[in-house]
Amino acid sequence: MNEVMNLPVTEVKGIGEESAKQLEPLRIYTVGDLLEYFPFRYEDYQVKSLEELRHEERVTIVGIIQSEPTVRYFGKKKNRMSVRVLIDQVLITAVFFNRGFLRKQLTLGSEVTLTGKWDQHRLTLTVSDFQKGRQDGERALEPIYSVAGKLTTKTLKKYIYQAFQQFGDDIPEPLPLELLDAYKLPGKKEAVFRLHYPTDRLAAKHARRRIVYEEFLYFQLKMQAFRKLSREQSTGRTIPFDKEEIAQFIKKLPFPLTNAQQRVVNEILNDMKSPYRMNRLLQGDVGSGKTVVAAICMYAAIRAGEQAALMVPTEILAEQHVQSLQALLQPFGIEVALLTGSVKGKKRKETVERIAKGELNIVVGTHALIQEDVHFHQLGLVITDEQHRFGVEQRRILRDKGETPDVLFMTATPIPRTLAISVFGDMDVSIIDEMPAGRKAIETYWTKPEMLERVLAFMEKELLAGRQAYVICPLIEESDKLDVQNAIDVHAVLQQHFQSRFHVGLMHGRLHPSEKDDVMQQFSRNQIQILVSTTVVEVGVNVPNATLMVIYDAERFGLAQLHQLRGRVGRGEHQSYCILLADPKSEVGKERMRIMTDTNDGFVLSERDLELRGPGDFFGAKQSGLPDFKVADVVHDYRALEVARQDAAKLVNSRAFWEDESYKYLALYLEKEGVLSGEKLD
Ligand code: ADP
Ligand code: MG
Repeated sequence: MNEVMNLPVTEVKGIGEESAKQLEPLRIYTVGDLLEYFPFRYEDYQVKSLEELRHEERVTIVGIIQSEPTVRYFGKKKNRMSVRVLIDQVLITAVFFNRGFLRKQLTLGSEVTLTGKWDQHRLTLTVSDFQKGRQDGERALEPIYSVAGKLTTKTLKKYIYQAFQQFGDDIPEPLPLELLDAYKLPGKKEAVFRLHYPTDRLAAKHARRRIVYEEFLYFQLKMQAFRKLSREQSTGRTIPFDKEEIAQFIKKLPFPLTNAQQRVVNEILNDMKSPYRMNRLLQGDVGSGKTVVAAICMYAAIRAGEQAALMVPTEILAEQHVQSLQALLQPFGIEVALLTGSVKGKKRKETVERIAKGELNIVVGTHALIQEDVHFHQLGLVITDEQHRFGVEQRRILRDKGETPDVLFMTATPIPRTLAISVFGDMDVSIIDEMPAGRKAIETYWTKPEMLERVLAFMEKELLAGRQAYVICPLIEESDKLDVQNAIDVHAVLQQHFQSRFHVGLMHGRLHPSEKDDVMQQFSRNQIQILVSTTVVEVGVNVPNATLMVIYDAERFGLAQLHQLRGRVGRGEHQSYCILLADPKSEVGKERMRIMTDTNDGFVLSERDLELRGPGDFFGAKQSGLPDFKVADVVHDYRALEVARQDAAKLVNSRAFWEDESYKYLALYLEKEGVLSGEKLD
């Protein structure tokens, strides 16, 4: 956005092509990248007085040597040296390990600066850094950078310093004065400088606050601008369904809707009826009944003469959705078509043709559905299921497929509310926060793998009562590196155990789609009582007679995923159980198992997981749709995120933002990001 920040990093004196290569792994390509390559923490060398010292903390003190050092040797290389030091009229002991060679420098009466770990009870400092004389102020806080490859911290610091020399004065200020004033934030130049060269912690904190806000504001501006533009320029369809017809449809469903389902149905139908183009996220915990909501909306669409598509991530899920939708829609004479990778040849040709002619009005499929050669006659509604993993860009690409269909994203991943509004700031959000009546809470237990015999006894009891069980394993085959149970082994063990009494099926990602389909069919028809599987059954699969979910190596899964897996049971009238076989070594790992046994509520679980691990882990690596922030942390700084969201919404809706000079950089940023090429939006 500004020439200086965008200059290639080789413009910095001392950085040639070779050095530039070394900076690439750190994703430093421009002068701006270099100047904004911030330290991830600071080493504190601020000299403290005796009374400021806290037990077990790493501290720096200045004192006078009061004794000859004594050194004890243990073998050739090991030694322990101790010396008495006077600070603030109190004698303490300084201990050095394996640094006997320093003894000559510790002369009686000389002043020294010592850094190390403080033991308040023994008045002892275990020294990690020693300097002669009083080393005060100068390097009070030392920035620590992460480096990679051949690049050393020293060289990196040199580059940053040089970049400041040449370009420091030209760092532009993207934020308007009024915002800086409102939040008492330092200017950009000052903040960037202070993060590299802080005078003290407070200054660093202050500078960080500024950058966090700026990062969030950019992010939210993009979201809010998308949202505004798609609303304004939306030539979205008005889908003129007949309300009474929908009411009749709902009345004839096999069950009454929950209040929450009714509420979200209204929200979605309102969007569809309005000329705005719908861009809505529907969140609902596993089993909350999203499928029927989708069915109602699709019904509304086709009654108004439009086609509707449901897009899902896996073939199995697509097939299941076809079944459940068919069951709901067949009584109304509506055909539900399937289009996935395994629909081939003549069948595919025929399906595609009928879609193009508008003879097939409801199509369920994988990504293949909305790709090139598939043309809809009149596509009015696209629903995606379990696609929370999409980022903002992908969401936009999807919306731009077809001719301005309304888009509904469904997800069972319970995204904490605080995050949802921010991360999905460009969308409207509907939440199903209520389970269908009469659902029994799944009982979850955590046990060590050694207890397998007892787990199998329990399984047998359930099976004898006519129920079915899932057994989930992390990997397909034995791996050298990971000592994990694998589906194939476990399948063999269970077959051996249950012999001919029960049928054990096996399902994993390497099976041919038609084989998967077979296995799944057999399981739904109760021809197989135990289904051993990898996580391919994770999403959406619905077999209400299954009441037991056993998960091997549960500590290897994320909480969100465990919750998804658990959601495969508890879908019918019978009491269901989830057993986690896990032996986590870390405290966090144990805590996660406890969280699973404590709560069935996906939202509670996600909040606690978030506290425990942060958002990156929660969503699965790099799949959150969140940009990479340089310093901001969505969890830690969520208040700033919320403030930035409100400010961004206000800004994009103000005239001044688009016309005033003081917002130039922010507006330019949006242009650069392609947000403003609004014509393309629809
Ligand atoms: P999910 O939100 O996880 O996709 P589903 O749509 O698969 O949940 O619904 C789970 C089960 O609950 C299905 O068997 C469905 O028929 C049933 N169901 C959905 N809504 C209701 C309701 N209002 N009352 C009773 N059962 C319902
Ligand atoms: Mg579902």
